[in-house]
Amino acid sequence: MIVVSACLAGFEVRYNGTHSLNETVRELLEQKKAVSVCPELLGGFITPREPAEIIGGDGDDVLDGAAKVVEISGRDVTELYVNGAHLTLMKAQEVGAAVVVLKEYSPSCGSAMIYNGEFKGVKAVGNGVTTALLRKNGIKVISEEELGDYLALAQIKV
Ligand code: SF4
Repeated sequence: MIVVSACLAGFEVRYNGTHSLNETVRELLEQKKAVSVCPELLGGFITPREPAEIIGGDGDDVLDGAAKVVEISGRDVTELYVNGAHLTLMKAQEVGAAVVVLKEYSPSCGSAMIYNGEFKGVKAVGNGVTTALLRKNGIKVISEEELGDYLALAQIKV
């Protein structure tokens, strides 16, 4: 089974009420080869919500207590992000996920790049909180940008 970001599957769960539809991800869901999850909604957020970024590092640093997740208005929402990460981990373990495909650049779901904490649209190398926790627990996480290569290698037809 594959776990995917709900916004990639077309659900309007992003902070601003939009989706990030990826046709391959939606097809995986329709073929029952994937289940979707939104770590931020699992963590207790609603849609719409304020944009948030990690300040002081990346998802690994958040889990180590060395960085925090803050909304644009300044509210510290670290605990909600960590909660969402743990619930996503439980879901991935429950379904025996072979891989988890998460939306790049998100403070939860980014797996190679996130925004740098200045709310200026500047990206930096780093992972989101959910990605960090999944990887710490031995779960393979990739972004939608790597999905085509993964499916080809795993010989999964969509
Ligand atoms: S990027 Fe992750 S946390 Fe953000 S809306 Fe998509 S699934 Fe939810």
